[in-house]
Amino acid sequence: MSPADKTDILVVGAGVIGLAVAAELSARQPDLSVVLMERHESFGRETSSRNSEVIHAGIYYPAGTLKAKLCVEGNPLLYQFCQKWAIPHRRCGKIIVANSAEESASLDNLLDQALANGVIDLVELGFSQLNALEPNIRAARALLSPSTGIVDSHALMARLEQICLQNGVLPAYCHLVDLIEILSEGYRVHFKNPDGSSDTLDCRCLVNCAGLQAGRLAALAGIDPDRALYRLHLCKGEYFSLPRARASLINHLIYPPPLHELTGLGIHATKTLDGRLRLGPNAKYVTEEDYTVDPTCAGDFYRAARRFLPFIDQRDLEPEMAGIRPKLSGPGESFRDFVIQEEFGRKLPGLVNLIGIESPGLTASLSIARLVARLIC
Ligand SMILES: Cc1cc2nc3c(=O)[nH]c(=O)nc-3n(C[C@H](O)[C@H](O)[C@H](O)COP(=O)(O)OP(=O)(O)OC[C@H]3O[C@@H](n4cnc5c(N)ncnc54)[C@H](O)[C@@H]3O)c2cc1C
Repeated sequence: MSPADKTDILVVGAGVIGLAVAAELSARQPDLSVVLMERHESFGRETSSRNSEVIHAGIYYPAGTLKAKLCVEGNPLLYQFCQKWAIPHRRCGKIIVANSAEESASLDNLLDQALANGVIDLVELGFSQLNALEPNIRAARALLSPSTGIVDSHALMARLEQICLQNGVLPAYCHLVDLIEILSEGYRVHFKNPDGSSDTLDCRCLVNCAGLQAGRLAALAGIDPDRALYRLHLCKGEYFSLPRARASLINHLIYPPPLHELTGLGIHATKTLDGRLRLGPNAKYVTEEDYTVDPTCAGDFYRAARRFLPFIDQRDLEPEMAGIRPKLSGPGESFRDFVIQEEFGRKLPGLVNLIGIESPGLTASLSIARLVARLIC
C-alpha cells in the first residue's frame, strides 16, 4: 500500500515497538491519520524476531529508570494482552542460580533491586523447594521469579498489526526513509518506494522506532548523535539450541545472576513455546548487522551453561540464530537507559525519538507505546 502525501503521524519502523506505538496512537486518536513505514516487506524482520522472547519481571534495572518502570508496567500489560487475544505465551517462571560466592552476592543484590523496582514476587528457594521444581539443575542458591514468562513474539506482532489495520493505520512496507526535512510545522519525510523511486510524505508528528537505525534517523532530523549521546553500538547475541529431549529436563527458564555491567544477562537457558531448549545470548560488540552464528563459540556456551545445567553435552549444541542489541553504552561503558523523548527542547516539536530500545523492549512494548502516546497526544 502506498502512503498518501500527508499524514498526522508517521511512525518509522515496524518492529514490536513501532507496531505497538501505531496501535496505541490509532486507538487513542481515531481522528488522526497514522502511517507506519517500514523498509522491509513485512513487520518484525529485525531485532523483534531475534530475541529470547522472555517476558521479564523488571528485576535487573536501576530503580527509577525507564527500563525498570516500563518493564514492571509492561509485564502485566503484556500478559493481559496475550490472554485477551489468545497469543501463545506461558508464565513459566524463571530460576536464577548461584554457584559461587560472587554469584551469591549478586543474588542478594537482585533481591534488593527487585524490591526497589516494586517487584514483590521474587523469592529465595529452599533446597528442597528447588529440588522439587528443578531436580536436574545445579545450584548452591536459587531465586524464583514467578512473573517471568515467554511469548510468541511473531503472534504478538501479528495481532498488533491487525489492530493497526482495524484502526485505520496505513502500513507502508518496503519503504525506506532516507531524508527528513524540517517544515515550519512538522516534517517532510523522503523515502524510497519499493520500485526504487523517491517520494515524500508530510507529517505533523514523527515517531522514530527504527531500532538499530534509530540513531541514524535522529541524525537525519539534524540531531548530532555524539552531542545528544544517541550514537548506537551494535551488540550481537548468539544462540545455540539443544535437542528436545534435553528440554524436558528443565521446567523453568534458568539464568545465572548478572555479574558485571549489564551488557547482557549472561548465557541462560530458555525453553521455547514449541518445547525447544535454547542457550544464549552471548554479547559481542560488532560493527555490521551480521546475523551468522560463530560455531566455534559452542565451547564457551557449553562451559557457561554446564555450571548450572550439568546434563548438557557439548556435542548437543547447534548454532541457532543471532540478534543484535541497539545499545547506547559502548564496550566497557556503564548503564544507559532507554531514550524516549519528544524533541521540543531541540526545536523539533512533534519528533519523538526512541533510541537504545534493547532488552526489555519486547516486555515493555505496550508500556512504551502508552508513554509515547502521552508524549504526543
Ligand atoms: C539477543 C537479544 C535478546 C533479547 N531478548 C529479549 C527478551 O527476552 N525480552 C525482552 O523484553 N526484550 C528482549 N530483547 C529486546 C527486544 O528484542 C527489543 O527491545 C525489541 O525487539 C526492539 O523492537 P524495535 O521495534 O525497537 O526494533 P526492531 O524490531 O529492530 O524494529 C525496527 C524496525 O525499523 C525499521 N527501520 C530502520 N530504519 C528504517 C528506515 N530508515 N526506514 C524504514 N524502516 C526502518 C527496521 O527495518 C526494523 O524493522 C532482546 C534483544 C536482543 C538483540
